[in-house]
Amino acid sequence: MTDYRVPLQDMRFVLFDVLQSSQLWQSLEGLGEVDEDTAHAVLEEAAKICEQVIAPLNREADEEGCHWSAGEVTTPDGFRNAYQVFNEGGWGGLGGNPEHGGMGMPKSLVSAVEEMLQGACMSFGLAPMLTAGACLAVDAHGSDELKQTYLPKMYSGEWAGAMDLTEPHAGTDLGMIRTRAEPQADGSYRVHGTKIFITWGEHDMAENIVHLVLAKRPDASAGTKGISLFLVPKFIPAADGSLGSRNALACGALEKKMGIKGSATCVMNFDGAQGWLVGEVNQGLAAMFTMMNYERVVVGIQALGTAQWAYQNAVAYAHERIQSRSPTGVQNPAAEADPLLVHPDVRRMLLTAKAYNEGGRAFTSMSRSGSTGRNTPPTPSCASGRKIVSPCSHLWPKRLSAIRPLRPR
Ligand SMILES: Cc1cc2nc3c(=O)[nH]c(=O)nc-3n(C[C@H](O)[C@H](O)[C@H](O)COP(=O)(O)OP(=O)(O)OC[C@H]3O[C@@H](n4cnc5c(N)ncnc54)[C@H](O)[C@@H]3O)c2cc1C
Repeated sequence: MTDYRVPLQDMRFVLFDVLQSSQLWQSLEGLGEVDEDTAHAVLEEAAKICEQVIAPLNREADEEGCHWSAGEVTTPDGFRNAYQVFNEGGWGGLGGNPEHGGMGMPKSLVSAVEEMLQGACMSFGLAPMLTAGACLAVDAHGSDELKQTYLPKMYSGEWAGAMDLTEPHAGTDLGMIRTRAEPQADGSYRVHGTKIFITWGEHDMAENIVHLVLAKRPDASAGTKGISLFLVPKFIPAADGSLGSRNALACGALEKKMGIKGSATCVMNFDGAQGWLVGEVNQGLAAMFTMMNYERVVVGIQALGTAQWAYQNAVAYAHERIQSRSPTGVQNPAAEADPLLVHPDVRRMLLTAKAYNEGGRAFTSMSRSGSTGRNTPPTPSCASGRKIVSPCSHLWPKRLSAIRPLRPR
């Protein structure tokens, strides 16, 4: 396998030649100070970490997998160090709200960094991805107290995030969830229930894990209208913001999920864990969609990042592997055959893959180019297009990577 190389030139081309991002950023509130030089520096520094620290973990981490013992999850060798390096660079807060410690960088730039991270090692990249999504939901729907307590620690990566929707009997149909949240006299809730398939629900990379949990109050109506959203931390923060007591939640087991072994997929048991309402009662699904929509877009970017490294491997293989002679005459007389790259059909497939990757990158960057680092789409056209753009960003790169091997009729 070749080493992963961030396609910096292609990323710059989309951002600055196709989208003219610097002019756009100048016109958007809060982004006026982000110029092309700053963006180049961001891309180059992120590329170094992704290529040198994170990508080398990709294969061995998935071969080793995560380990579970008595409710604790140990990550594959190298993940803890990579997580620390990633967060020391401030990358977890790149697109975060500056009012709470985020860097407020433009989403199209963040999107390029997400591609590098997911391309370098998807198992690892899922952790910052879940945290960033949880931050968006807390920032958009949480009380000021929740934002002040949690967002700075989550942007810094000291505390990670997780998304707890799915239950053993309720996947697509979340209206059937049974996790219940009982109101307490102090305004908090006690959460009881079991969630499954929780990506990075438990791990040893961050000192605290902040679960955003869908649950129903005892008086809730049936179906999705009775769902509320709760923030349930692994450790309850003390008044001074430091880690307080352990909350009543634990990882019951690790699951197998589509072969992503380096990332912990957790059964999470909540046994009266203390939690706090995020947003309004019975509006939990709408609030959670802030996080879910972000995760869907980045899952599309995962497909792009993965397809990019696959393309790089395919090009390298087509250079190395020799088979048959070129139809235009011998190209490599010193060897028994010519490299695969000389064959027109091989070139066609490689160029098709390259075109799909570049198209996918342009689409995801374009779809987020009007968004600031905050959770507010600044242009009406962007807001009105979100219902179409978000699912397309999620599905389009994945569908293309699936149809790529097909030959034209
Ligand atoms: C890689 C990965 C990561 C995940 N991470 C998380 C996480 O972090 N947190 C979390 O809470 N969950 C997570 N999940 C779980 C995910 O949210 C569920 O898998 C998803 O909601 C579907 O639920 P299910 O698997 O129970 O499938 P089901 O709901 O049982 O559906 C099975 C099939 O039937 C189809 N289907 C169901 N209802 C309909 C309908 N009305 N119309 C048409 N087709 C329908 C579905 O599309 C699917 O193809 C993850 C899953 C995967 C694969």
